[in-house]
Amino acid sequence: MAIKKSTLLITGGAGYIGSHAALEADRHGFKPVLFDNLSMGHSWAAKSGELVKGELADRAKLLKVFGKFKPVAVMHFASHTYVGESVTDPQKYYRDNLTNAMNLFSVMLEKNVNYFILSSTCATYGNPVQVPMPETHPQNPVNPYGDSKLMLEKILTWYDKAYGLKSTFLRYFNAAGADESGSIGEVHDPETHLIPLVLDVAMGRRKNITVFGTDYPTPDGTCVRDYIHVTDLAGAHFLALQRMLETSNSDFFNLGTGKGYSVKEVITEAEKVTGKKISVEFGARRAGDPPELVAKADKAKTILKWVPQHSSLENILRTAWKWNQGYFGKKIGKNKK
Ligand code: UDP
Repeated sequence: MAIKKSTLLITGGAGYIGSHAALEADRHGFKPVLFDNLSMGHSWAAKSGELVKGELADRAKLLKVFGKFKPVAVMHFASHTYVGESVTDPQKYYRDNLTNAMNLFSVMLEKNVNYFILSSTCATYGNPVQVPMPETHPQNPVNPYGDSKLMLEKILTWYDKAYGLKSTFLRYFNAAGADESGSIGEVHDPETHLIPLVLDVAMGRRKNITVFGTDYPTPDGTCVRDYIHVTDLAGAHFLALQRMLETSNSDFFNLGTGKGYSVKEVITEAEKVTGKKISVEFGARRAGDPPELVAKADKAKTILKWVPQHSSLENILRTAWKWNQGYFGKKIGKNKK
């Protein structure tokens, strides 16, 4: 199937991962249309394609967008992603992550758009019973965030059987880093992720980083995570889309490097990359943090021929540092929501 120059609808296209996917869409010859309500995303992050501001709950608006742009496929990034918040406010997660997505599916079915890429997560697995975690790992999520994504996976599996809506679930491990250009990167409010917070300390925007737990059963006692560069992550979406368009098969893949780093290792590497001393405070464990989350990442490598090229810890930190310095240092985009 000829896919180049086709329009691709990217929900959450002004968010962290969605905006990087939009850049990749351009690089792969697609015309991206970014659909975002800008509640978490930023208009300055919409560097490629056309940005349409709208709500996924607004079916009439979605119908218009599908009618006007005639996308060949949808990549769905619009989602709430705070694990802790999902535990205290599950309604928000089931309403927005689940029912809004179902609204989107209904418009896809009506408009006969049959290819969907789901931004899924290793949080669908829950507590690891096996590390590294293969795609066949049991899926028993321990928070509403992971559960809402797993429910979408299940719904889409049935929609494929019933309606022929093909989908690929991409289960991310820890997305990190920023586009090499330094023009887009990670900005969350509130920020809860390790790497941006560590770099905030290096920037002098925060006094210290609190390490959540030092008594885990890991080599240095701190949690181990599999950090994957956002550009590699975005690139995998296009390999998955291409394969889905060629084979018309639904499938699912882990997206990680297969190598884990501890919180302490991340901080040490960040000191090297930034040349700054990073003050550390040792605190209690954060609720819901498994000791180690590392992907068994062979399936995407074998089937999609996906080769992460940007995901050394050094490069993740270097690109994130470049972004942080540009955004927070020069206040690029500040107040330009
Ligand atoms: N972490 C930490 N201090 C912080 C933020 C995170 O020690 O201020 C740890 C966290 O406990 C986890 C790892 O860093 O083990 C990565 O956390 P992050 O929130 O970046 O991603 P998550 O693994 O929750 O998706």
